[in-house]
Order: sequence, then C-alpha cells, then structure tokens
Amino acid sequence: MSAPPPALDLTAIRADFPVLCQRVHDRPLVYLDNAATSQTPSAVIDTLRTYYETYNANIHRGLHVLSERATAEYEAARRRVAGFVNAAHAHEVIFTRGTTEAVNLVARSWGDAHVNAGDDILLTELEHHSNLVPWQMLAKRRGATLRYVPISPEGRIDLEAYARMFGPRTRLVAVTHMSNVLGVITPAARIVQIARANGVPVLLDAAQSVPHLAVDVQALDADFVAFSGHKVLGPTGIGALYAKEAWLEAMDPLFGGGSMIRTVELHESSWAGLPEKFEGGTPNIAGAIGLGAAVDYVQNVGIDAVTAHEDALTERALAMLSDLDGVRVLGPQDTTDRGGVISFTVDGVHPHDVGTLLDADGIAVRAGHHCAQPLMRKLGVAATVRASLYLYNSPHEVDALAEGVARAKAFFDEH
Ligand code: PMP
Repeated sequence: MSAPPPALDLTAIRADFPVLCQRVHDRPLVYLDNAATSQTPSAVIDTLRTYYETYNANIHRGLHVLSERATAEYEAARRRVAGFVNAAHAHEVIFTRGTTEAVNLVARSWGDAHVNAGDDILLTELEHHSNLVPWQMLAKRRGATLRYVPISPEGRIDLEAYARMFGPRTRLVAVTHMSNVLGVITPAARIVQIARANGVPVLLDAAQSVPHLAVDVQALDADFVAFSGHKVLGPTGIGALYAKEAWLEAMDPLFGGGSMIRTVELHESSWAGLPEKFEGGTPNIAGAIGLGAAVDYVQNVGIDAVTAHEDALTERALAMLSDLDGVRVLGPQDTTDRGGVISFTVDGVHPHDVGTLLDADGIAVRAGHHCAQPLMRKLGVAATVRASLYLYNSPHEVDALAEGVARAKAFFDEH
C-alpha cells in the first residue's frame, strides 16, 4: 500500500482564496456550493490579470509579440489540462465552454455520423440534464432510442443490468463519473471495459470527478471525457472535451468559421488539424489560460490529498447530518466510492426554505432539482438541499452546516 497523502495546510489554502474571507449576513462565509461553482485562487486571478494587463491578443493569427505570447500560453494551458487528466496527446484536449458544450459537440459531431434509426444509446438514471438532453436531441434527429441503466435506491449503477443491455444496435454509452446529486462515484473503468467488450464507445461526464479525484483518461480508456473549468478552481465559460485522437481525426467539426480551416473555397473548405478543427472562432483565451493555472494549483496541492481531505469532511458531514432528527441523507451513507456532494431533505421543511435559512447564517448551499429531474423522480423527491465540499472547506464549516440545519428544523417545528 502506498503512503497516505499528506494532510492539507488548510490555513495556507484558505489564504489563497480571497472570496472566502468575507462575511455574509454578518457571518463568516461558509461556501458549500462547490458542485455548482468552485472558488478561484489568487494564482488564477493573477494569471487572468497578467493576461489582460500584458499580452491580451488573438491567438494563431498575429505576427506580433503579444499574439505570439497569447498563443504560447494558450497551448501551454492545453498541455497542462492534458497532463492533469493524463491524455496521451495535448491535441486530444479541445477547449469548450464547459461540460455542456463538450457533450453537445460529441452528440452532434460524433452522434450524427454514427447513430441511425433503430440504434440505441445507453444512459443511466443518474444523469445531469447536460448528459441527457443532448442525447434526447440526437435520438430525435436520428430516430434512435435512449435506454437507461437502472440504479439502486442509494444510486449505485446496476452493473449486471448494464452488461445485459448491450445489443447489436447499441452505439454509445454516456454516463456520469460522479453524480452531482448523490455524490456516487461510478465504476467508470469497469463500465468502459464492459462497453469495450461489446465494441461500444463511452463518454464520461466528468464534471464532478475531475475536480475531486485523480482522473486518468488513459487508465480509464474512455473515448470521450467532458468537464468544466469553473468546478476545478478555474474561470467560468471554459471547459474541455478529451477525446481519443482517432475519434477526433474522424469527426467533422461542429463550428465552422475562422481558425478551424486549412483552405476555404467559395463552395467548400478543408479542415485544419487537431485541435484547431474543433475550435472555430476566437476561443476563450483568458479562460483557457486561467484553467491551466487552476489545474496547476490543484496539482501542486496534490489531487490525492484533496480527495482524502474531502473524504474526511464527507464522513463528518454524513455522521452529523444523519444524527439530526428528521434529516435524511440521500445516496451512499459512507465514503466508499462517494464524493463530497451531500444531498439531504429535512422533514416538514421545503429544501428552498432550508437553503434560505442557511444563507441567513452565511452558509451557501444549493436547493432544488440540481438539473437532474429524472433522478429526482426516481428518488421520489421534488428537491433536496445539497452541500458540496472542496479542498478549502474545514471541519468547522461542516459543524456550522449541521448546526444551521438543526436551527432551521427547530425554527419550522416551532412555527
Ligand atoms: N454534468 C454534471 C455532473 C454537472 O454537475 C454539471 C454542472 N452542474 C454539468 C454536467 C454541466 O456543467 P456546465 O454547466 O459547466 O456545462
């Protein structure tokens, strides 16, 4: 067994996040909405500032110093992101606006070429709308059928049912790597193995996994992996699609325009090589460079140390919340194959009211359906409160959450 990762220096880490040292409603901010958007360290803010202050320019075009530097930093960011997920080649990373755009890119560019009437696409009952609606749209365009792998009451994928669902018309598996509602970490490597044995490619929605656990796209052997920058300490409006080189070579681009062509005639064009073919138009240059700085930050802290820290906090939160009368935590009740996304309900109190009362205590959580309406229906709830952790959260903040929930419950019990 390898040695456990070193404990995080929480004081130093928190000092890197200016947003955290503020008061909200006259209480210290307790930020527990990381599954929606994570906070931004000074290193990323400084990188964005340096970009705009010293080399803001379009890439791949100018022959001038600023443009050359912007191009070099943009491509260096691609190498950083590729390294972070262990892609074999930097050009297997396509910058997108985020997970949603990455999934839509595959649904259009790959899906329209490979999915036909009568074909099946396998999804699971866990999916975020971003890994569901694009496939519905593809299925409608092409006359294909979506089939859903069932989950257990705590949100585990039924692997036996999954293995039985493959048929001669199965074209793709699209599955989340970590649920944004239940925190369930899916057995991605096994899922890919089973799909591979059936000759079917796999897309992983890694929006919630890439920020919180080591994701090695080569070890997982996934064909497509989508994630967002703003959940991994990066800016909003930037994310990535990792795809195996062979798929990207064979796929048509989604966006036609500048920068993605080799030659343009009046009636037809030929495409640039990878990755430019998929990045038509001026991309989010600052965002990509900021994302490069963000993954560097996480790597410097150490992703295994981040996972271990979040596991300890999750364990504490699960214990404290389940100790409260009338509070029900959904999903796995321990940290085995589970991340720090904790959904719960409070008897007799609407999740939005819990969220509002927590906000009054300076505690930021999310309440609602979390862009996973079919999953909520399956779980038999309309909405949940969701607290989601990251590397800068402390045990003290978990205690504050539990105390806040207890106060909210008591308040409604009295009124
Ligand atoms: N998938 C999952 C599992 C998510 O949690 C999210 C963000 N909530 C998305 C996809 C969509 O990501 P984005 O909005 O950044 O495109």
